[in-house]
Amino acid sequence: MAEGLASERALIGELVGDQPAEWDLARELPVDLLRKLSTKGILCAEVPAAFGGLAASSQDNGELAAYTGSLCSSLRSIMTSQGMAAWTIQRFGDREQRRRYLADLTNGQLAAVAFSEPEAGSDLSAMRTRIQSSGDSVIIDGQKMWITGARYADLIVVLGRYGDGAAAAMVPADTPGVRVEPVTDPMGCRAAGHSHVRLDGVRLPASCVLGGGGQALSLLFTTALSYGRMSVAWGCVGIVRACLSAAASHAKRREQSGKPLAQHQLVARHLSELLIAEQVSTRVCEYASRCWDSASADMVMAAVLAKHVSAGYAARSAATTVQVLASAGATDGHVAARAYRDAKLMEIIEGSNEICQLVLAEHALATVP
Ligand SMILES: Cc1cc2nc3c(=O)[nH]c(=O)nc-3n(C[C@H](O)[C@H](O)[C@H](O)COP(=O)(O)OP(=O)(O)OC[C@H]3O[C@@H](n4cnc5c(N)ncnc54)[C@H](O)[C@@H]3O)c2cc1C
Repeated sequence: MAEGLASERALIGELVGDQPAEWDLARELPVDLLRKLSTKGILCAEVPAAFGGLAASSQDNGELAAYTGSLCSSLRSIMTSQGMAAWTIQRFGDREQRRRYLADLTNGQLAAVAFSEPEAGSDLSAMRTRIQSSGDSVIIDGQKMWITGARYADLIVVLGRYGDGAAAAMVPADTPGVRVEPVTDPMGCRAAGHSHVRLDGVRLPASCVLGGGGQALSLLFTTALSYGRMSVAWGCVGIVRACLSAAASHAKRREQSGKPLAQHQLVARHLSELLIAEQVSTRVCEYASRCWDSASADMVMAAVLAKHVSAGYAARSAATTVQVLASAGATDGHVAARAYRDAKLMEIIEGSNEICQLVLAEHALATVP
């Protein structure tokens, strides 16, 4: 395991403590905790030092996401959104925008990233949100769905159509015309502040458009999603680790038919499957992080592979853990129950299982003449 970011990891452990079950039940994270982590640069740890960040490697940031995910997937989701916003600014913002917005995101502000729309889920090319030029301003109209962290966000990175191309605009959540409506009763990651966002005639200075806009829509969302996939993949490693730990310690302690559950071979098989899940998902994420840190040509494919493999293992591991704990894990807020609900959602976001499989199939076809 990477040793970087040890003090940041300790701070997360200290601030989170035993509260995740309570947060899950209350469907809310404490905003002062989120702001504290933002101020320390922890929510987007890969931001370069020149912009106030911790300049973490993808591997170190990944292990931090895994640790956070092992404690609380809602908090890890906020970390993913903040990191994805920072990465989008880093890649598409001009120097002044990078200086301004990255300083905000490492100094207490919170951000969300909005791609999805009612008619544009898996198929983001169907996006309808418009960012229109109007003199020194832009006017934004559209509707975004299921935006992680939007409920807590000061800034929302909104992707939309812009002239013949596309753009990402930095939208302060308190701008007139922005309406944030929390998703009621999400199935999992219940405290992650998922919200629908309406943008009606939102007027902002043209300087909010990253890099002046006009990028290809697919380039914008693939870039942002690649970071999101890395972060979700590592977060899933955390879910698997929490499951392995909960199942193994329960199976050691709980006795049935005169011996610990772990000594019943069918339960032992569950434990072996959890260990395999932990090892394989960690290795595939480490490979993706090495590709990311070396800007390898395999980076995009490796991120999709890591997310797909880890999300699948997380969903299966969570189901296995509920099985091993049985009634002991079957209460709302319990680590096994939370993992079961949270992990399933990881097979939907940042490219569903099916979309990841299509991307991987394309890669397979590209490798043969
Ligand atoms: C917990 C959570 C957090 C989210 N956070 C964000 C966020 O922060 N920002 C944001 O912009 N969005 C976010 N979303 C939205 C998310 O990106 C979409 O839900 C996702 O892209 C899938 O879109 P959809 O729900 O419209 O499903 P659909 O696109 O309608 O897909 C339904 C099913 O059909 C399958 N399918 C669709 N097209 C194909 C195809 N071509 N081939 C094969 N199968 C296909 C899908 O895999 C899926 O199984 C979040 C969603 C959830 C649930």
